[in-house]
Amino acid sequence: MSTVTAPTIHCIPVLSDNYVWLIEGDDRATVIIDAGEAGPVIEAIEARGLKPVATLITHHHGDHVQGLAALAQRFPMAVYGPDSCRRVGVETVVGEGDRFSVPGVGEFAVMATPGHTQDHLSYVSGQAIFCGDTLFTGGCGRLFEGTAAQMLHSLDRLAALGDEIGPEATIYCGHEYTTDSLRFAAHAEPDNPDIAARVREVATKRSNGEPTASATMDLEKRTNPFLRVRVPALREAIERYVGECIEDDIEAFAQLRHWKDDFDGLARL
Ligand SMILES: [Zn+2]
Repeated sequence: MSTVTAPTIHCIPVLSDNYVWLIEGDDRATVIIDAGEAGPVIEAIEARGLKPVATLITHHHGDHVQGLAALAQRFPMAVYGPDSCRRVGVETVVGEGDRFSVPGVGEFAVMATPGHTQDHLSYVSGQAIFCGDTLFTGGCGRLFEGTAAQMLHSLDRLAALGDEIGPEATIYCGHEYTTDSLRFAAHAEPDNPDIAARVREVATKRSNGEPTASATMDLEKRTNPFLRVRVPALREAIERYVGECIEDDIEAFAQLRHWKDDFDGLARL
């Protein structure tokens, strides 16, 4: 296992609402998670005197890869990611079950988490789970390429991994979507006090300009509807939305995702 005692994780805002995560290990050796834009990341790295040794890509969407070429040119380093991202600069293709070690930063395990896209990977290091656009704080990614069955399976596996890691297991996501996600969570589960408390906490953080795209898996399980399709109160709410009884967890998940998409559509009117 890693000799790094306590890596520091920095959150770098890029584009309109994406985040790049920097994992700073020993002697400023740093791993970069995703590369939606190079400029702010290069600035943050130089300001802190960090030494990038690897970039890990979660999936092929432009807002996660389009800064990769410029970053890799500025800082020669290893680039890990899915096969689909070779054309944008991934050199070491990784997939489900792979493990690799980044000198100075630690061990990483790769989990295939399809649903948002077919190629989506999550990376796990110590207590940190970098889940890109699969699991969001308070929500989950849209089903652009995958099925509801795939996404539910991916989320179930991430939740189980959280149990395995323990109470400190923490997710780090690709976007600042928490406020909108929790607005839906509170709509779907109006009587959940943990969601109400989290809405207040996130509002305070956002008004101070703080990012909210990382949270413990424990908090996610109590407040994220997409990890709660089997919780009776939410299941009943989904059934009221659909107007019929739902036996199947995948169907309940699919309907919950539709409900959120409808809700977002209404919110934009
Ligand atoms: Zn995406």
